[in-house]
Amino acid sequence: MQSLVPERTGSPGGRRRVRARVTGVVQGVGFRPYVYRLARELELDGYVLNDERGVVVEAEGASPAVEAFLARLPAEAPPLASVEGVACQERPTEAQEGFRIVASTRGGEPLALVSPDTATCEACLRELFDHGDRRYRYPFINCTDCGPRFTIVRDVPYDRPLTTMAGFEMCPACRAEYEDPLDRRFHAEPNACPVCGPSVRLGGAVGDPPALEEVGEVAGDAALSDAVEALLGGAILALKGIGGYHLACRADDEPAVARLRTRKHREDRPFALMAGDLEAAQALVELSEAEERLLVGRERPIVLARRRSDVAVAPSVAPRSADLGVMLPYSPLHHVLLSDVGLPLVMTSGNLSDEPIAYRDDDALRRLAGIADVVLGHDRPIHIRTDDSVVRAVPGRSSLVVRRSRGYVPASIDLPLASPRPLVAYGAQLKSTVCVAKGRRAWVSHHIGDLENLETLRSFRAGVEHFERLFAVAPEVVAHDLHPDYLSTNEALEREGVEHVGIQHHHAHLAACLAEHGERGPALGAIYDGTGYGTDATVWGGEFLVADLEGFERAGWLWPVRMPGGDRAVREPWRMACAWLQEALGEEPAMPATLVAEVDPAMWHAVAQVAASELAPVTTSMGRLFDAVAALCGSRARVSYEGQAAVELEAACDEDERGAYSLPLVETQGGTTDAPLVLDARATMREVLADVAEGAPVATVSARFHNGLAETTARACQTLAGRRGLDDVVLSGGVFQNRRLLTNCVTRLEAAGLRVLVPERLPPNDGGIAYGQAAVAAAQLAAAPARGSPARSGPD
Ligand SMILES: [Zn+2]
Ligand SMILES: [Zn+2]
Repeated sequence: MQSLVPERTGSPGGRRRVRARVTGVVQGVGFRPYVYRLARELELDGYVLNDERGVVVEAEGASPAVEAFLARLPAEAPPLASVEGVACQERPTEAQEGFRIVASTRGGEPLALVSPDTATCEACLRELFDHGDRRYRYPFINCTDCGPRFTIVRDVPYDRPLTTMAGFEMCPACRAEYEDPLDRRFHAEPNACPVCGPSVRLGGAVGDPPALEEVGEVAGDAALSDAVEALLGGAILALKGIGGYHLACRADDEPAVARLRTRKHREDRPFALMAGDLEAAQALVELSEAEERLLVGRERPIVLARRRSDVAVAPSVAPRSADLGVMLPYSPLHHVLLSDVGLPLVMTSGNLSDEPIAYRDDDALRRLAGIADVVLGHDRPIHIRTDDSVVRAVPGRSSLVVRRSRGYVPASIDLPLASPRPLVAYGAQLKSTVCVAKGRRAWVSHHIGDLENLETLRSFRAGVEHFERLFAVAPEVVAHDLHPDYLSTNEALEREGVEHVGIQHHHAHLAACLAEHGERGPALGAIYDGTGYGTDATVWGGEFLVADLEGFERAGWLWPVRMPGGDRAVREPWRMACAWLQEALGEEPAMPATLVAEVDPAMWHAVAQVAASELAPVTTSMGRLFDAVAALCGSRARVSYEGQAAVELEAACDEDERGAYSLPLVETQGGTTDAPLVLDARATMREVLADVAEGAPVATVSARFHNGLAETTARACQTLAGRRGLDDVVLSGGVFQNRRLLTNCVTRLEAAGLRVLVPERLPPNDGGIAYGQAAVAAAQLAAAPARGSPARSGPD
């Protein structure tokens, strides 16, 4: 935070007046009443107001009091505020009396920041369960410290008429709170009560085929108790929340969970759980202190933590997973529901697998009709759909974000350098996000999803439009991935009147990590993921890059192998096992016993032939190496989502196994200083094959594979960093969501005296790509503003 407090003028004991401009997240967070109370306490005169750039205060009074005011202003700001700067000017004193909150001014360029949706605060929770309170059990209680924000904002400035609360007129009691600067609901834009605010309604399945209809007659507390009764009886409930609809059922009811899984067409992906409180969460998962902190944080993400062995959770909740995803209630509706049900609930996105989460009522009723038995809706519209965020704790780091969405978005993540021109970055194809930036500010969107259907593409377009409007970014530059078949690339290239900048996928991964840590490089990066388009038109994914924000050089890679069947090889890991064995043995491999029950011998033969030919694409993907090992050891021959085999292989790992497979580093070009290194995983595959032939369990193979890969990754990083004189190492890419691999690599590299940067605020997976693209584009524009073209790019 920068503070530009001028030298104090005027005599001690004399009067002084200052004008302070406060920037950061200071609107919709109770900042003006806070300033008002502070000024009154210090007996200052003056005023406070919101404008497009933040908050402006003029304060006048005894010199020591003004000084105290300026010192306390940023230090004691309300919990949801994030003060980034206080710029002060001395002003001539005025004879004005008292301190006022004046109405917002309009005009000029909006820069005020919208705050993320925030979990119900302690004060509101006390009222929620207080029999005597007028908001007792009211599912929409909120105040200036808590409640929905991003999901209800239609436009800025953040004022009630520009939110989805515009349709609710406040009753006199609510109005009085809203207008009283000393009330904790002063200008709480979503302020409401049972008399004037939104209400819940219960609906059920009607007709054949069943359609969900809002019955409408059962509202308020009766609707809640009917919903609770249905849940306890094993029904699937569609529940309208903050950022969209959830599907809920009892977590301990196997038939209900299995039915939900079947109806949702979600074959294997784990379902998240909601526990009533921390104690209930502790009964489900083993929680470290760091995990508890994440769980109770006001962002209220889903926290992935190790499941307890004796946990009373239906097997279908998270098959083959060592972890459970658990969250705590974050809206008053959740609090009342969980308290009444008294059991943990499955709480999963309200959608068919692969579609975006439903958030508009008509759409939800139609799409969820075949899935839910009852629906608990309400009449406060959601303006923008936002999924739950997902995080993991990692030792020594703030967190590892798997999905950054509700609770975190749209907090800005500043760039290490200012972009000379406003820009938008369109991200990747899977786990899509977009990012808008101007100057040093960058705003990464909520998680949009995999751009593989029309509904998600629509959501993507709406996201771009909303972020550009909310943060008043009129992009002159559009950054995109190099992959010609990504829908995001197509969307970017179709945009007219802008300059296009193509950015290599793994360079964007590395840049995103550098930039979130305020760094510009150069650094050495080990970037491991499933798929990324390389500058040589092959599929990259096991890359060592020497890079700064502006450009990169490829310094090493995983041994290239064929990917028989292209995309089919992603869904069928046994194909990668076949291709890797072909490569490792130099001849057509016999089908291993572990795959006999899974694969038709004729198919195996055909795939082996393709793998030996020039027909299949070539890849250096680390994700596909995990697939090959998982298939070969009998863990997983086919998957229902990208990365599943790797997740399960990590989960199966024997923690105590110390053995490691060989993964030699091969020097190219005679081992000169700049010569790239190649990780020869053929040796690994031969050793896996030998272990599997002797009947080694999956747990042992998994551990030896993880250990060998971590050891070699660290050695390759050390070698390359040493040769280039680099001190910083970046570990990123979706494969580094693997906590075992990540912590093992970090420990080794730090022991070798290197500084290791890992993604903490943004996901290591493709959800971080848009921000990385923005950082690269900003750096390239800053380096070559006249040309406005990439200053340098990687070798072909
Ligand atoms: Zn509150
Ligand atoms: Zn009211």
